[in-house]
Amino acid sequence: RDSCVSDSSDSVISSGSDSEGQVYKVVLLGEQGVGKSSLARIFGGVEDGHDCDETGNTYDRSFEVDEEEASILLYDIWEQDNSQWLKEQCMRIGDAYIIVYSVTDKSSFEKASELRIQLRRARQSENIPIILVGNKSDLVRSREVSVDEGSACAVVFDCKFIETSANLHHNVRDLFEGIVRQIRLRKDSKEE
Ligand code: GDP
Ligand code: MG
Repeated sequence: RDSCVSDSSDSVISSGSDSEGQVYKVVLLGEQGVGKSSLARIFGGVEDGHDCDETGNTYDRSFEVDEEEASILLYDIWEQDNSQWLKEQCMRIGDAYIIVYSVTDKSSFEKASELRIQLRRARQSENIPIILVGNKSDLVRSREVSVDEGSACAVVFDCKFIETSANLHHNVRDLFEGIVRQIRLRKDSKEE
């Protein structure tokens, strides 16, 4: 099986020790071109020269949310290659998922629904945190998906919803804080 995996994705999938506190694995899903890598680079602080551990398409960063340190390993590997194996790994490894579509592209919105269904199938009994993200909210004139459609979809799929603009860095921090809060909520309810 190893032969069909590149070195980087192999190390990506086996990494993630939690020796010093839990590292949450968050996976970006969504059609090509919706802005996953742009969001990931902002998260990783690549654009502001932040010293983050960027290994291929994963971004490792710790930040404070509600006065508590959180460590996230963000995977931007969904389109790394077209192997079914990698897609299945993506569906398995995440502690949480960010499903991205572009508000300027209706078909990416429909694809997001498909991904949500696939994810539910892959992780049936688990209550995994998911945030549905409508990116490119700055492109007002070419919008094809309204805020209402996005949030209605999130209600149906029982997940959180946020619109972002990677270009304007709008709501990007809120997105990643939101995913940390979701993970903590689910974790707390499990421990009770
Ligand atoms: P990916 O294929 O999902 O990783 O998408 P990318 O991050 O590579 O982005 C695809 C294209 O969309 C690039 O040209 C980005 O500059 C552009 N893009 C990404 N996010 C935004 C956004 O919020 N607003 C606008 N206007 N363009 C964006
Ligand atoms: Mg990309």
